[in-house]
Amino acid sequence: MEKAKKLYELPPLPYSYEALEPYISREQLRIHYEIHHKGYVDGANRIIQMMDSARKEGKPFDVKAALKLLSFNIGGHVLHTLYWYNMAPPGRGGGAPGGRIGDKIVDDFGSFERFKSEFVEAALTVEGSGWAALTYCNATNRLLIMQIEKHNTNIHPTLPIILVVDVFEHAYYIDYKNDRRKYLENWWNIVNWEEVEKRFSKLI
Ligand code: MN
Repeated sequence: MEKAKKLYELPPLPYSYEALEPYISREQLRIHYEIHHKGYVDGANRIIQMMDSARKEGKPFDVKAALKLLSFNIGGHVLHTLYWYNMAPPGRGGGAPGGRIGDKIVDDFGSFERFKSEFVEAALTVEGSGWAALTYCNATNRLLIMQIEKHNTNIHPTLPIILVVDVFEHAYYIDYKNDRRKYLENWWNIVNWEEVEKRFSKLI
């Protein structure tokens, strides 16, 4: 049977808007999800539909501009989805990771504290807007931190992301103004290490 074509969809949040308080407020989370994430989903779909109809009608389109926008919007959609699911309400989230990922972090970075400080440094020093991500490289059997500019620049292609933090100002501005460091300090209280463990376990 032929597989039907689809468009991107905004995935449901795995918790309520106020679930990440006091570290991320209801209003911060709502706007981030409903406006920003949805904007990337809609943006990616608009380009896909534009290309579909241009091809159908045999009309040209600006390939370079379309692909650049498509990369940005797909990146935004995929990264936000990973981000929502690698957070959990305080109590369920936070603390130090156990399991295989806990061991691997200590093995690769020396300690959990050392990993956190490198990860935060990556997140603090992104040029412009972007993300810090933890990836796993199967070829070298190493966890690698990836510093993503915008949603799509500076990436290690195909390395799977097991943990990601959004450092676009839109992710924290309502709660933290321009204090990205404070947002990051608090963010560790809502990291869903169970989810990170699940993602990592599938790769090893
Ligand atoms: Mn964002």
